[in-house]
Amino acid sequence: MVGTTGHATRDILVIEDERDIAELIALHLSDLPANITLANDGPGGLQLALRRPWDAIVLDIRLPGLNGLDLCREVRAQTSHVPILMLTARSGELDRVLGLELGADDYLVKPFSVLELQARVKALLRRAGVSAARAAEAAAERPSSIEQGHLRVDRVQRRAWLAGAEIVLTPREFDLLWHFVQHPGRVFTRTELLADVWGHGHDGYDHTVNSHINRLRSKLGDEREEAAFIHTVWGVGYRFEVAA
Ligand code: CA
Repeated sequence: MVGTTGHATRDILVIEDERDIAELIALHLSDLPANITLANDGPGGLQLALRRPWDAIVLDIRLPGLNGLDLCREVRAQTSHVPILMLTARSGELDRVLGLELGADDYLVKPFSVLELQARVKALLRRAGVSAARAAEAAAERPSSIEQGHLRVDRVQRRAWLAGAEIVLTPREFDLLWHFVQHPGRVFTRTELLADVWGHGHDGYDHTVNSHINRLRSKLGDEREEAAFIHTVWGVGYRFEVAA
């Protein structure tokens, strides 16, 4: 049973240069059932990843030509939120953090069992199915206001309050804040924020995002790091999170 749509065949891209591992993955994921496409280097994998929509991508970190971390960053900058499972030969915390902050959804450390691999990919497909259904629901019935800690943001009134005191925001600052509060904990690249908040046709630049973030932060009282709502994820982008 895969996801909410029964036994629909999925399209999965596997980017892995070690041939025996790639074939093992392909063999076991095709049972899901899924059509598996293999890529054996970074540049070829990136090209395939961007060429058409995939139900999931399994991505090795160590690849010739372009490593999996850069590939993941590029995919996230250019396409929607295809589920990505990263494979790593190193179990260090740095890999984990980097992988997840770059926008990977999950990771597996080599050597892994094929059952574990199947379980993780199934979970990704299921979550993707659920989030697509939720997105459709949310579009039909979006919340009119959201509270995160001391912050309240009202979409209908287009107003925001911090500990009961109104924060005066420009229309763009409001859109940016509303976008963040809907996705607490998620890291957005500047390119994603430009596309999501300014719109795809917008002729914007990274510094446009930076300057709006800086003004929004100052209005949220985010100069003090411990009070921060909007966190910088170095080399990647920004994450909204309410301090515990
Ligand atoms: Ca490799």
